[in-house]
Amino acid sequence: MAHVGVVVVGSLNVDLHLWLERHPLPGETLLAGGGTLSPGGKGANQACAAALAGAPTAMLGAVGSDDSRHTALRLLSEAGVDIDHVLQLPGPTGLAVVSVASDGENTVVVVSGANAQVSVQHAEQWAALIRAADIVVSQGEIPAEVTERVARMVQGRWLLNLAPVIDLAPDVIRRADPLVVNEHEAEAVLRQLGAEAAGPEALVAALRDQGVASVVLTLGAQGALVARDAGVARVGTPHVRAVDTVGAGDAFVGALAARLSEGVDLVAAAEYAARFAAYTVQFEGAQSSYPAPGTPLPELT
Ligand code: ADP
Repeated sequence: MAHVGVVVVGSLNVDLHLWLERHPLPGETLLAGGGTLSPGGKGANQACAAALAGAPTAMLGAVGSDDSRHTALRLLSEAGVDIDHVLQLPGPTGLAVVSVASDGENTVVVVSGANAQVSVQHAEQWAALIRAADIVVSQGEIPAEVTERVARMVQGRWLLNLAPVIDLAPDVIRRADPLVVNEHEAEAVLRQLGAEAAGPEALVAALRDQGVASVVLTLGAQGALVARDAGVARVGTPHVRAVDTVGAGDAFVGALAARLSEGVDLVAAAEYAARFAAYTVQFEGAQSSYPAPGTPLPELT
């Protein structure tokens, strides 16, 4: 088997972005100002970012049997992600409908489609790849029992980006190294572990107290906090003109995984991830905003 640095086990979607003057009322038909279809899904976004950040990367997950599966996979193959093990299951590909109104208020409706059909049996089929990876990356968009099974199979490092927050067994959450979450997610994960805290420093300290080996708390334009045995470090992020932050968190996770797979230490990996993610907020879209290999990244300030 070819060496695989990063294995992402997660969701693949097609994102339908609708640009609206205002959101429709029940029963009402509106004309949108525009609409775009683009590849998405947290798992796919993160795999795309990891490959563009230079790591040999494989994607494990499922698309449906409809035509939109081609859209879901398009940029992954362009980025060099190994998509040979992505399953094609009967039914629709995952779909996220993102409606953006002119006042900036967004609504999101997700049809899980094939992502909800990924099973523990599929995880067993993928066992050799999962075991061989330097780092395996999981999120919250496929069934919890699959992620729990994957976590128990991993022999390298396991990165858990628990977004959205789903119920996972506490002993599984404690296997994360690192757990990557934003502030809201950190509060929810902590509740699952039976504790509470408020504010970034207290949240990372409490997660570590609960037995999580390392935590990266992302803070948008404020960068991130990294907590591990050596203590807590604040990581900045470049100052950029933010156009669209969709997919920035996923870019951060993918780039972080790429550097960790090479043995880079967590703080240096998070600094690289912040530069990679900050690049992406300057452009519209998720995967389409990610930098091609060799693109100069903005410097930390
Ligand atoms: P999420 O969307 O998952 O909540 P964040 O908004 O915290 O994730 O973004 C993840 C990372 O992307 C941040 O830690 C930061 O490095 C970078 N980032 C996000 N928004 C900006 C911004 N406006 N300017 C610079 N960097 C940003």
